[in-house]
Amino acid sequence: MTSSRPQRRSWAEPWKVKVVEPLTMMSAQERQAALVRAGYNTFLLKSEEVYIDLLTDSGTSAMSDWQWAGMMMGDEAYAGSKNFYNLEAAVQKHYGYKHVVPTHQGRGAENILSQLCIKPGDSVPGNMYFTTTRLHQELAGGTFVDVVIPQAHDPNHEHPFKGNVDVDALEALIKRVGAKKVPYVCVGATVNMAGGQPVSMENMKAVRALTAKHGVRIFLDATRAVENAWFIKTRERGYADKSVADILKEFCSYSDGCTMSGKKDALVNIGGWLALNDRDLYEEASNLVVVYEGLHTYGGMAGRDMEAMARGIVESVQDDHVRARIGQVEYLGHKLQEWGVPIVKPIGGHAVYLDAKAFYPHLTQDQFPAQALAAYLYADSGVRSMERGIVSAGRDKATGKHHYPKLELVRLTVPRRVYTQAHMDVTAESVAAVWDQRQEARGLKMVYEPKYLRFFQARFEKE
Ligand SMILES: *Cc1c(COP(=O)(O)O)cnc(C)c1O
Repeated sequence: MTSSRPQRRSWAEPWKVKVVEPLTMMSAQERQAALVRAGYNTFLLKSEEVYIDLLTDSGTSAMSDWQWAGMMMGDEAYAGSKNFYNLEAAVQKHYGYKHVVPTHQGRGAENILSQLCIKPGDSVPGNMYFTTTRLHQELAGGTFVDVVIPQAHDPNHEHPFKGNVDVDALEALIKRVGAKKVPYVCVGATVNMAGGQPVSMENMKAVRALTAKHGVRIFLDATRAVENAWFIKTRERGYADKSVADILKEFCSYSDGCTMSGKKDALVNIGGWLALNDRDLYEEASNLVVVYEGLHTYGGMAGRDMEAMARGIVESVQDDHVRARIGQVEYLGHKLQEWGVPIVKPIGGHAVYLDAKAFYPHLTQDQFPAQALAAYLYADSGVRSMERGIVSAGRDKATGKHHYPKLELVRLTVPRRVYTQAHMDVTAESVAAVWDQRQEARGLKMVYEPKYLRFFQARFEKE
């Protein structure tokens, strides 16, 4: 008897497929033409030109039949839609905040929070920047200050909570500029730009203790806080037997509110919210949201969209769901690791990040190695990824020079409940093929650069 049977028990997705969406498969020649037309920017490809779309996990989730059923229950009243109250109740129950202002997506909430809390000359500390978050802080007159632990900038460091706040650096900042100049600390969990790396409960408690001493608020970027809770459950002592739902609620309890992109954890294609515990701040926010988003009981969303998000929240905090979601990301990451492909370690919650500096040591950062790697990957197989390096980092507000981030990455982002394990196999094999060809790779030059968030629309040519 042969005994090649593995001694493990596998997990499988806690859902089955009911509706399928056919994918297009183009020839290598057609992909090359599409790439040139798109200026070597994967954001400028048409979705129809893409085979496996790992551009982002934002708004790309598959909704459940229960969520779709909820779409039919949309109450499209201008004011006081019942779907708003369902959403409010879901946020209160699972995130624990008192007041909820819906917004069309996460950046809508960031805009309102930044305008309400930040004054010109303020410093806004955060555990690594996020593109839209920092931009709104700067547009409100603030200066973002990175207080993530230094290990977050090292793609090879195996710290289990690489998203942690450097509490000493935060304290030093508060002492240097004075607590009055720090409107709040923005804690992102998980940290997108560090590779989907989590923040520990212990660290969150320490940040709370420090800020309480100085009277400084904490606002959570809760976009992937559910996934963060899974990492606490699996990596932090004392949490193994607690549910993701309980961990999430405890984590949020150490903050004063959150901005949220429902397009990530909450399993919807559009939506977000701003949650606040302070009644006065909530009153101001519900006034300001009218200017930018809509009345405070819809904030830029249709009633049906709020219902889908309310139900998405409930589904998102189920342990089985999170296990399978992060399990799929780990499946892809482990495969690449086994084959010696350089990726950010540990593997993050929503994506596997390729280390473009390690792929292409012969290219300088001014030759946009991650942008080039994303282009080579698309050319090889039609897998769409995105750059997270010098292009995403943009320019310094004061000097106008490029920011030169330590990390030069390509993100393979896995949408929730969309692709199968076989799609992950195809992706891994394509990455391996591009890795094998790495010595021949050439850099890019930027031929068009938009003013804001340039990575979305910048255009490139081959050097
Ligand atoms: C996506 C994202 C946002 C912004 O949310 P949108 O819904 O895209 O506006 C903010 N923070 C993080 C960490 C994100 O990933």
